[in-house]
Amino acid sequence: MIVAIDGPAGSGKSTVAKRVAQQLKYNYLDTGAMYRAITYEALKNDIDIENSDALTHLARSAKLEFRNEHMGIYSDIFINGQRVTDEIRLPEVDANVSAVSKVAGVRKAMVRKQRQLAGNDVIIEGRDIGTVVFPDAKLKVFLTAGASERARRRALQLESTGEKIDSLQVQKEIIRRDQIDSNRENSPLVKAVDAVELETTDKDIEQVVREILLLIKNAL
Ligand code: C5P
Repeated sequence: MIVAIDGPAGSGKSTVAKRVAQQLKYNYLDTGAMYRAITYEALKNDIDIENSDALTHLARSAKLEFRNEHMGIYSDIFINGQRVTDEIRLPEVDANVSAVSKVAGVRKAMVRKQRQLAGNDVIIEGRDIGTVVFPDAKLKVFLTAGASERARRRALQLESTGEKIDSLQVQKEIIRRDQIDSNRENSPLVKAVDAVELETTDKDIEQVVREILLLIKNAL
């Protein structure tokens, strides 16, 4: 069964989606990591972020791979043979990924790849999974949380990687990214009409995981 989990930055998608996948022995696909890898590669090659043609060419020709699987979860992402698992979380990537993800040609190439990678039983998370990538997904969940809570979660995540952080800056960055993601012309971040919305501001991870497992049980 295909389970689509969408929502804004810091809504807890990755943590929750991974745990649900582990419990059900489903595959897990982090589509944000793919847009981040393209962004990293574009910055590395000095591609102008405003140059849609060059970005589309890059997205079409890049070799994207998830490697090192353990129980359906890949711990590494590679682009053109280079492991970029840590690099895709750098602040420069955060700052540019939404601009790269706006480009229609980039999205087209990523959606095609995502459909190839997903498999039959998958928890797939992103921004447009329920609306565009798998509009027929058996279950669609839209996770939300207040902006300051999302910033707090993102700051904790960054701190755990040893990154020095400024909480206010993290919050500004999250809001800026959501604005671009929600207002873009091509497959904007929006709740699918048939998605179940889960508000997670005052919930811990385990509670959200339990709620999603129950939704999946009911959908089966
Ligand atoms: O999920 P994550 O925060 O890592 O995603 C990074 C960025 O990738 C998002 O801010 C968005 O611009 C883009 N993205 C997207 N569509 C997806 C997943 C991510 O546009 N399905």
